[in-house]
Amino acid sequence: MKKIVVVGGGAGGLELVTRLSKKLGRKGLAEVILVDRSKTHVWKPLLHEVAAGVIDKNSDGVDYRMHAVRNKYQFQLGNMQHLDSEKKFIVLDPLFDDEGQEILPERTIDYDYLVLSMGSVCNDFGTPGVAEHCYFLDSLKQAERFHKALLNQLLRINQSSTEQSSLHVAIVGGGATGTELAAQLHHVANLARAYGMPEMSSERLRVSIIEAGPRILPALPERIAASAKKALTDLGVNVMESAMVSEATEDGFITKTGDKVEADLLVWSAGVKAPEFLVNMGIFETNRANQILVNSHLQTTVSTDIFAIGDCCGFQQKDGTWVPPRAQSAHQMASVAAGNIINLFKGKPLKAYEYRDYGSLVHLSKYSTVGSLMGALVNSSMFIEGRLARLVYISLYNMHQYAIHGWFKGTMTLLGRKVSNFVGPKLKLH
Ligand SMILES: Cc1cc2nc3c(=O)[nH]c(=O)nc-3n(C[C@H](O)[C@H](O)[C@H](O)COP(=O)(O)OP(=O)(O)OC[C@H]3O[C@@H](n4cnc5c(N)ncnc54)[C@H](O)[C@@H]3O)c2cc1C
Repeated sequence: MKKIVVVGGGAGGLELVTRLSKKLGRKGLAEVILVDRSKTHVWKPLLHEVAAGVIDKNSDGVDYRMHAVRNKYQFQLGNMQHLDSEKKFIVLDPLFDDEGQEILPERTIDYDYLVLSMGSVCNDFGTPGVAEHCYFLDSLKQAERFHKALLNQLLRINQSSTEQSSLHVAIVGGGATGTELAAQLHHVANLARAYGMPEMSSERLRVSIIEAGPRILPALPERIAASAKKALTDLGVNVMESAMVSEATEDGFITKTGDKVEADLLVWSAGVKAPEFLVNMGIFETNRANQILVNSHLQTTVSTDIFAIGDCCGFQQKDGTWVPPRAQSAHQMASVAAGNIINLFKGKPLKAYEYRDYGSLVHLSKYSTVGSLMGALVNSSMFIEGRLARLVYISLYNMHQYAIHGWFKGTMTLLGRKVSNFVGPKLKLH
């Protein structure tokens, strides 16, 4: 039986593996294997909420093993760092427990078809001090690490006798991640008061967003950026534009003009690139963002048996631009790549991928949601905000839930989430 291996069960990979299992795995037509270095899947656009502590991986995450059993595919926990495209196998690093004891040695898994969907990591552009001093939101582990540090800082401020003392968080990068995190932190500082930290409030929180470009949210239309900026400044967030960071230190960022932005917690969320090892393997053609170049069917340019989707895929459009690293791109690519692999099994022709931009939204916690709709939904770009924007924002997550659980279980999961939000604590305290 032919083997399909998918590396990376994120926004794109988990949807793809679910579809392949349904159409091929369950029918005994192929063996489907998912590899991920994490045990739990949390949809990446929710990571800033994990970091702020307003959602919990136990109620909002998907256990890969459980999902694999339900959908009849195999799950292998492991980190892929190498592959042999001639002999057609991937290599997983040895697996260690929390105490550093080896659980499993290095393993190889052979494949007939391979899908690479391992997402992206933050790009620090080689800025000194960033790797040592900054928090990132690339993975669940990193988001949880920030959350722990945030809770400790909230406790410190709450206990501090000086009324003037406040918590300062500086975020580099005024994209969706940075702006959404800033608003969530404001909300969390107020929530903390209700959860045993009576001296804490947003008045004792200072958040700075440092953006190198002339405006925040550079990938979004100017009107959305202006609206988001107003909402953030109304909350007291210090939005610094055209401010390039040249160094990160233990206690803040230094800008190119020599100014220092002092901070207790430093977050780096400026730009993304595909993982470095994809380039270092020397197998694939890659672009400047380390993304693997693919043809119109999402097969890599070096091997038609290897597909790449999502943030690690470099798909150049007719106008020369690259498909942006977004959840909606990963969702669309997962659907086309799955269809093409199924067509390969059936001996049918493959379909060409085309990116459809349905718009972009920024959700600033409970304060505001702004964005634009475009493409097939309306004839041209349409500015939306408030309830409608929030509904559309949520619908992208709902689509992901339906894709990985099916309509019935997806609806039940979403209802369960609503119930647990209603009855459970609004802030994760550990
Ligand atoms: C805070 C935040 C907010 C965002 N908000 C939005 C938004 O509102 N709208 C939007 O469209 N996009 C948003 N994005 C971007 C979006 O999350 C990504 O574009 C999308 O998740 C990419 O999907 P993917 O499947 O390519 O990768 P991911 O979803 O990142 O999944 C990659 C998977 O691969 C696994 N993996 C990585 N390396 C390895 C390895 N070597 N071996 C084994 N497994 C590996 C990871 O554990 C992970 O499960 C946001 C991103 C962040 C960080």
